[in-house]
Amino acid sequence: MRLPNYVGGSWVEGAGPGTALVDPVTGEELARASSEGIDFAAALAHARTAGGPALRTLGYAARAELLAKVADVLSSNRKAYFEIALRNSGSPEADAAVDIDGAIFTLKYYVRAAAGLGSARYLRDGELARLGKDEGFQGLHVAQPLRGVAILINAFNFPAWGLWEKAAPALLSGVPVLVKPATVTAWLTQRMVEDVVKAGVVPEGALSIVCGGAGDLLDHVTGADALSFTGSADTALRIRSHPAVLRRSTRVNVEADSLNVALLGPDARRDAQEFDLLVREVVREMTQKAGQKCTAIRRILVPAAARSAIEEAIQARLAKTTVGNPRNKDVRMGPLVSKAQQQAAIEGTAALRRETKVVFDGGPEFKPIEADAAVGAFVPPTLLACDDALAARAVHDVEVFGPVATIVPYADPAQAFAIARMGQGSLVASVFSADAGFLAEAASELADSHGRILAVNAAVGATHTGHGNVMPMCLHGGPGRAGGGEELGGLRALAFYHRRAAIQGHVDVLNAIAAHAVELKY
Ligand code: NAP
Repeated sequence: MRLPNYVGGSWVEGAGPGTALVDPVTGEELARASSEGIDFAAALAHARTAGGPALRTLGYAARAELLAKVADVLSSNRKAYFEIALRNSGSPEADAAVDIDGAIFTLKYYVRAAAGLGSARYLRDGELARLGKDEGFQGLHVAQPLRGVAILINAFNFPAWGLWEKAAPALLSGVPVLVKPATVTAWLTQRMVEDVVKAGVVPEGALSIVCGGAGDLLDHVTGADALSFTGSADTALRIRSHPAVLRRSTRVNVEADSLNVALLGPDARRDAQEFDLLVREVVREMTQKAGQKCTAIRRILVPAAARSAIEEAIQARLAKTTVGNPRNKDVRMGPLVSKAQQQAAIEGTAALRRETKVVFDGGPEFKPIEADAAVGAFVPPTLLACDDALAARAVHDVEVFGPVATIVPYADPAQAFAIARMGQGSLVASVFSADAGFLAEAASELADSHGRILAVNAAVGATHTGHGNVMPMCLHGGPGRAGGGEELGGLRALAFYHRRAAIQGHVDVLNAIAAHAVELKY
């Protein structure tokens, strides 16, 4: 099977042999993807001239209805998506749900969030501002949808959610989408786009997909486009510094690597509920999607006195994690998505091991259930511990994109915050403590270097939404190393797909303009 690209209103197969998509459990080839021969300039032009105007004639509420129809199409094909996730990503059902149901949930959230925006077609930003002596002459800020394309270059780990968490606010804003999924898991993204396009629920040109390499895509971006990238920091650098992106000041949003922390407060002893809550969360983060989540916990900061208790507790849970072929219903953790990712995880772990001790790595007896370890891309859950966090470098720098985390003991809170910041900017930190004062202090200490802080005490122990779970109501993105981007955050996400302008004139004119706009309320 070859994955058809959808560009310029047609289904087009790329030329040449393409790249094989492979089952990471069995090594079976599933499909091929190729973008060779695709006219990227024409693809973008079609989205700008057909998709953009068709979307912009609709108001926000009508575009929200369109998102509702997309969610319905995806819901009705859900079973097929789980099958693709099983075969192409090696995902057990629970892991596939994070991606697929997470995508549908996010779309439905935006449908609800936009319900109050009515038929307005652009946004008002703030009050009229007096500019001089004449009260009749004032200024007003409005934000218009971009007249370009939302170009989404996505990572392999969320082929479903990664598309729709970006496409939902883009389409709601009135901006057409062209997605280039990561090749290795492009099948699920392609199938979802195919289902939505064939169902006819979005205007022609509103949704395009290219599977395979990015080719000369970036040569054709304009100042009206918005480029949203999720992936490694190295690729992010290449994209940001592309000459066309720089020359035309194309808007770029980057979600990249992150050395996220879980922090156990100094008060938390072995018998505290918060101790158990941290252990449970760490194990979930290490094993869900086999640790292939940008938000996964990579560093576990604990008071030095609690180190051995934490090591024992996490190790005991990891030892019970069943790893293997996700077709076996007893299996909780599947493989990484490819042999290349397995190799990268092995190399990254070797770099960490130079600065750490191994607490648990499945041992020499590690063997995946109902799978050939030599063929599949399996990596055992691996817990490391670092004696000297301040001297370590790799621990704060090497993101192993797999089920690997490092325990990092700290001496006092100031040192814990300093160690957290050594990640050079991260997506999320979670803090576990019964001391409300410590939770508040940690949140304010870490909020400048982390995009999201999850503060956990027993009061939210059973109800919090999780360290790694990205909720559409809250911001996703982190400073520095994490890419410096911002996604989601409810209707805040619309800002990336609009451009603000100041209109100066008579108040009657400004009020007439404002009457057709809607102001976002967060
Ligand atoms: P990657 O190798 O950087 O690839 C990401 C995307 O960029 C893929 O679609 C890839 O296409 C494309 N790409 C590669 N080179 C390109 C170029 N020169 N021009 C244009 N596009 C190019 O990253 P990955 O291995 O897929 O993803 C894993 C990384 O993503 C991890 O480091 C993880 O932390 C990060 N991540 C971050 C977030 C977040 O929200 N912050 C979420 C998920 C993942 P091909 O597949 O065709 O090479």
